[in-house]
Amino acid sequence: MTTAVCVYVGDDLARYGFGEGHPFGPDRLGAFWTQAQSSGLDRRVLQCVPVSVGEDVIERFHTPEYVARVIRQSASGEGYLDGGDTPAFPGIYAATCFVVGSVLDAIDRIINGECRQAFVPIAGLHHARRDGAAGFCVFNDCGIAIETLRLQHGLQRIAYVDIDAHHGDGVFYSFEADADLIFADLHEDGRFLYPGTGRAEETGSGDARGTKLNIPLPPEADDAQFYPAWERVETFIDQHCPEFILFQCGADSIAGDPITHLRYTPAAHRHAAQRLKLLAEKHCQGRLLAMGGGGYNRGNLARAWTAVVDALLAA
Ligand SMILES: [Zn+2]
Repeated sequence: MTTAVCVYVGDDLARYGFGEGHPFGPDRLGAFWTQAQSSGLDRRVLQCVPVSVGEDVIERFHTPEYVARVIRQSASGEGYLDGGDTPAFPGIYAATCFVVGSVLDAIDRIINGECRQAFVPIAGLHHARRDGAAGFCVFNDCGIAIETLRLQHGLQRIAYVDIDAHHGDGVFYSFEADADLIFADLHEDGRFLYPGTGRAEETGSGDARGTKLNIPLPPEADDAQFYPAWERVETFIDQHCPEFILFQCGADSIAGDPITHLRYTPAAHRHAAQRLKLLAEKHCQGRLLAMGGGGYNRGNLARAWTAVVDALLAA
């Protein structure tokens, strides 16, 4: 059985960003990869070239009307794709198709045994809804991954774990009534940070009640608050025996991020990856895909994401 870890790098993936100087700029992948190279991590992983997908694949999750709108605004490069957070730029459609395609290619490689785990740095666009963009997220690669694991790979019970500072609302509300989507999200309390959702009382609806765990933490929460909350996530995922684990490891929950107020260290991200890897080995034949998510301090995302990949590589 392979122990390889795939990491996706290349200009086609880096291009998903909203211009130089934007918090979600196209330099984020480079910041991560420079750190990976300087620590020798680049030589320990299986480097993979970004892959694109067609509209039919995007429409496993998104409405055809919304996909058509992104294509139109990508051609003109004008206006916003949501109320004002997510601007269209020329080529944004092609760029976001590489995010989705790389995530799905990683899933293919994990399922067919080419690698054990994978990391896609520019991915985890967890705010996008089925019918619209939100919070720098055009297409929700997490949601498309969940639909694809079911449609193409015959898996049903998927765990989605999110430690980004922002609540993964696009995933949560799209699968709120889906009892086989096991959702656990540690985030800054929505009273203080976008998107304002993710209260502890939100545990899923109808038959899915109890399959979702939202843990809001107060502004300034650090590792001392992260670890006990993480224990609850771990117990919850363990109890629900998933067949595949998706991990959104946004680095904007680390102290010094310019747009959030949490204060973890990258050790939190390393710990979460280590523990999810163990749960994946226990329940899912090791099948775990990590997605970079947010993170707007370049040094933080470089340290957090390399810590995640290093943890996945550990025996
Ligand atoms: Zn975020």
